[in-house]
Amino acid sequence: MIDEPDSNLVATLHPSPNIDERRRGLVPVLLILHYTGLPTLERSIEVLADPRCKVSCHYVVGEDGRIIQMVAEAARAWQAGVSHWAGESDINSVSIGIEIQHPGHSDGYPDFPPAQMIAVRDLCLDIATRHPIPQAGILAHSDVAPARKMDPGEKFDWRWLAAAGVGHWVPPELVGDTGPRLALGDRGEAVDAMQRRLADYGYGIAATGELDAASAFVVTAFQRHFRPARVDGVWDRSCARTLERLIAALPGHRNVA
Ligand SMILES: [Zn+2]
Repeated sequence: MIDEPDSNLVATLHPSPNIDERRRGLVPVLLILHYTGLPTLERSIEVLADPRCKVSCHYVVGEDGRIIQMVAEAARAWQAGVSHWAGESDINSVSIGIEIQHPGHSDGYPDFPPAQMIAVRDLCLDIATRHPIPQAGILAHSDVAPARKMDPGEKFDWRWLAAAGVGHWVPPELVGDTGPRLALGDRGEAVDAMQRRLADYGYGIAATGELDAASAFVVTAFQRHFRPARVDGVWDRSCARTLERLIAALPGHRNVA
């Protein structure tokens, strides 16, 4: 278990036994941001260190910005669960997880305090100095587990973080009520194209040509992260244009048209 912090931003060590080794020699290329969904920092740390709970994370960030490290960055924390991104399904082996103390959607879904956001920003920047994590690899738990998770959710300020140099983000196309809309149950080439583009970006989505429940969860996760003005699981023109802009803004992207 951890006996020395990886970062000098860490205020306290609180080792969790819920760890193992990163598999297949994998190294962190993703940074997964969560909320704890529990009422207090003390309770969150208790759960994340409880062997019966079988969950953990590398860092916890308190509402006041205090940073607690629970798992060494070299170890595999049990934070992502059944998850997918860019073809990888062992997200725990390729990521570092940060739990943000927050009561969650089911308990009022308050704003994230500025002191906490500043600490999250500083921690992400610090982690990125030690690992080859691209901006587009800084993700929400809901991005990698859209059918199960909604954290940290649409109030988490990805725009502000990106302006501070953390994460891949582009200003979303304004929400309008014109243009084609794809909703649960719709089928056809437009749905297939949407699924392929979401998969191109990294989402774990199959190109079935049907906007089934799994696809609607992915659309909702996309909206929470990249188009939070409307989170409704309906793929509209604003979503489609925002995704195209995101893909075009990826480093190394070449416009072939
Ligand atoms: Zn989570």
